[in-house]
Amino acid sequence: MDIDSKSIRIIKAKYWKNGWIDSSKRNLSDSDAEHLSNHGWNLGTVELSHDQIISDVVEKSRDLSLKDGAALLSQSLSTRKVQDRSFISSVIQASNMPKHSHTTSDPCPICGFYNEPEIDQDVLLFEKLMWGGVRLTNIEYVWLDLKLIDRNSHQETNFEELINLVMGFEARSDKLSASKFAASLKEVKGNKAEREILCSILSVCNILQHPEHTGFLLKYQPANERQLPNQHFIDLEWPFCWYNSSFGINKGALEILTRSLGRTDIPITNQTIQN
Ligand SMILES: [Zn+2]
Repeated sequence: MDIDSKSIRIIKAKYWKNGWIDSSKRNLSDSDAEHLSNHGWNLGTVELSHDQIISDVVEKSRDLSLKDGAALLSQSLSTRKVQDRSFISSVIQASNMPKHSHTTSDPCPICGFYNEPEIDQDVLLFEKLMWGGVRLTNIEYVWLDLKLIDRNSHQETNFEELINLVMGFEARSDKLSASKFAASLKEVKGNKAEREILCSILSVCNILQHPEHTGFLLKYQPANERQLPNQHFIDLEWPFCWYNSSFGINKGALEILTRSLGRTDIPITNQTIQN
C-alpha cells in the first residue's frame, strides 16, 4: 500500500503509546492533520448500510484476483510492510461472498454485519498499519481493504518468500497451539502480534487449517456458523484460533494458491483438497 512513512508515524502515534490511547485523547496537531489530509489518509467515518457494503464488496471483487493479494503478501514478508498482508484474505472472502440482503438490527447471520451508525475507517487503518489488520473477517474491514487495494503499486514478484515460508511450515514436526506456533515463527520479521495476524491471514486462506474449521478459500463461511473453541478467553482470529501445528498445511489450498500464481513447479500434487 503506497503510504508515506510520516503518515504512518502520525496515525500510529494518534492511537498507540505503550497501549491504546484513550479515545478522548486522540488529538492531532494542525500540521499532522493537514499532512494526513494532503496525502489522503484522513479517512474519517462513513455511514453505510449492510446492503451497500455487500454490493460494494461483491462488485469490487470482480476486478481482483488471488494473485493480486498473494503478490502483496509475499513482498510484505521481506519488507515488513504489514499493511500489505491482508489484501489476500479480503479478496478471498469477497470473491466467495454470496449476494444477500439484511435489514433488521440483529447481526447478519451471513456476514456478521452489525448495524452500526457509522464505520470508523481511521481505527481500521491504524490496526492495519500497526499489525496488518485485526478484524480480518469483519465485513467492514474487508470492504475497506478492497477500497485501499487501489492504492498499491504493482510490482512483479516470483512469490518465493511466500512459498518458502509455507513450505517451511510443512517441514515442521511439532504440536504447538495456534498462539505458540505463531510466537515460534522467528523466520518472520516482526513481533508476536504481527506473526499472529499473518497466521490468521493464512488461516482465512485455508493454508493453516483445522480439518473441521476451514477458511474462506472455497466458500464463504457464514458468521453464525463460525464456532469458537470452548475457552474462557480467545484472542486469536477465527479460524486460526483452532489451529495446531500438528495439522501442518493444507496442501490442497497451497496447490490452488500456487496454480493461481502460475507456479506449477511446486511438488504438491496428488493431494486431496480439504475444505
Ligand atoms: Zn450480511
